[in-house]
Amino acid sequence: KQPLLEVKNLKQYFPIKGGILGRTVNHVKAVDDISFEVYEGETVSIVGESGCGKSTTGRAILRLDEPTSGEVNFDGGNLLSLSKSKMREKRKDLQIIFQDPYASLNPRQTVSQIIDEVLKIQKIGTSSKERRERIISLLETVGIGSHQVDRYPHEFSGGQRQRIGIARALSVNPKLIICDEAVSALDVSIQAQVLNLLKELQRKFQLTYLFISHDLGVVRHISDRIIVMYLGKIVEISDTQSLFENPQHPYTRALLSAIPSMNFEEEKRERIILKGDVPSPIDPPKGCRFHSRCPYKMERCATEEPVLNSVSNGQKVACHLTEKGAVDYTKILVNN
Ligand code: SF4
Ligand code: MG
Repeated sequence: KQPLLEVKNLKQYFPIKGGILGRTVNHVKAVDDISFEVYEGETVSIVGESGCGKSTTGRAILRLDEPTSGEVNFDGGNLLSLSKSKMREKRKDLQIIFQDPYASLNPRQTVSQIIDEVLKIQKIGTSSKERRERIISLLETVGIGSHQVDRYPHEFSGGQRQRIGIARALSVNPKLIICDEAVSALDVSIQAQVLNLLKELQRKFQLTYLFISHDLGVVRHISDRIIVMYLGKIVEISDTQSLFENPQHPYTRALLSAIPSMNFEEEKRERIILKGDVPSPIDPPKGCRFHSRCPYKMERCATEEPVLNSVSNGQKVACHLTEKGAVDYTKILVNN
């Protein structure tokens, strides 16, 4: 089966200008050669700490920032080779929802005007009456009543505004929706409601989600598969259950062990505490990028870069410890 979205060797380097001539003196390697697939109807999450490149990946897929190199194959064609105008048309099929819907909702427009604008740009609906009906039904689908459609964004709560953002994304019948920290600003109880809504909409409209979040608790409830990123690289790709029951990469294990309610092995409640901070993406560590913080680090880790390789259960891991023939390092306790 062909994936709906195939990201291939994607790189996003942002130039750093310096000196009196303002020349490019270096690059922030925000995303550094990552590849993954998303299949139709799936929810795939990208998790990692802030600065790992997860939002940059979402923006690069949509070309909100032009990627440095790589391919983004979507629905049979490479988005990165489309002209600007063809790409604008394609945006019907790929939508994005951000953390703060307020920032992207024009405060001087009513909710129905906001969505009407999108419909007009994408030439959906022939008359204003037809569009109006569509807007009302869309908003009802996300739980905003018809009596509220002529209100302004400030008259709604954060959760309602996110529902409006979702309705706007849905209005063009997308195939893929990228949710970038879409529930991160909401209270926990509201988060659950919005996550449930997203799941319901997925079934109803056969949507595919790429869900970007720093919060493993959130992604656990919504994802079929999870991609873990560290410093611009993918370190692990796994189905959700295997990731939580049997995390393979030392970084994934550290992330999970930091959540008390999510200890993956009861008898090994040992907390893996990472030393130091995430290094700079301007000059990332050689070899394995995680080596400066990895409690299992070996000599070769500082020079040889591990590649993503398949382990059990279809999990993919980039770590020398999980290569064929290696001992099961997860049985070795680390004492920080
Ligand atoms: Fe740790 Fe080495 Fe594995 Fe990197 S490759 S995660 S440094 S053991
Ligand atoms: Mg982000």
